[in-house]
Formats: sequence, C-alpha cells, structure tokens
Amino acid sequence: MWDDICIGCALCCYERTVSEDHVIIDLSSPCRFLDEETKRCTVYKDRTRLNKSCSRLTPLHAMFSSCLPPSCAYIRWAEDHHIRFRKGKEMVLES
Ligand code: SF4
Ligand code: SF4
Repeated sequence: MWDDICIGCALCCYERTVSEDHVIIDLSSPCRFLDEETKRCTVYKDRTRLNKSCSRLTPLHAMFSSCLPPSCAYIRWAEDHHIRFRKGKEMVLES
C-alpha cells in the first residue's frame, strides 16, 4: 500500500525552510499534532482537515516536491523508479 512506504521518521512534520540547495528542518518547531516521542501524528486520519498545511503525499509529490527531506522514503521510491524530476537537496537539521 502507498502509505506503507513511509518509514515514520516524521521529518516532514517540522517547520522547514527550502533554499535552492538545502532543506533546513527546524527540530525545535514540530507540528502541534506530532507526538515527538513516538514520531506519530496524533490526528492522522483527520490531518489534512485539522492542519491546512499538511497534505496527503501522492506520487506527484514524490516526483516533484522540493520541500521533502532527501531521506524521505517517498523521494527514494521515486529515485528508485527513475521518476524523480527534481535535483537532490542537502538536508540540514537545526535544533
Ligand atoms: S498533521 Fe500530522 S502528519 Fe501533518 S504535519 Fe502535523 S503531525 Fe505531521
Ligand atoms: S519524511 Fe517521508 S518517510 Fe519521513 S515521515 Fe515524512 S513522509 Fe514519511
């Protein structure tokens, strides 16, 4: 199943700044719905309704998104299938 690709790292659930070459993830700014201990979303089924900046990832995100961390399993899935159309960015974790 598509959702099973996710490895649950939760790196997409923190504030991110995207520059041309970097995705900077601010680990001091988690989404208010993230349980930081388990790395689980506490409102998973309702997440896109409760958090307007949260979207369900699709193959198009995997292929074209520039704001997912490069370690994201969906990015790797697209790379493995040779359908990743964005250049790789370096990930910077800030705390
Ligand atoms: S709503 Fe859930 S899945 Fe979406 S960013 Fe917040 S914690 Fe992550
Ligand atoms: S960054 Fe990718 S692999 Fe990690 S939790 Fe988010 S969607 Fe899943």
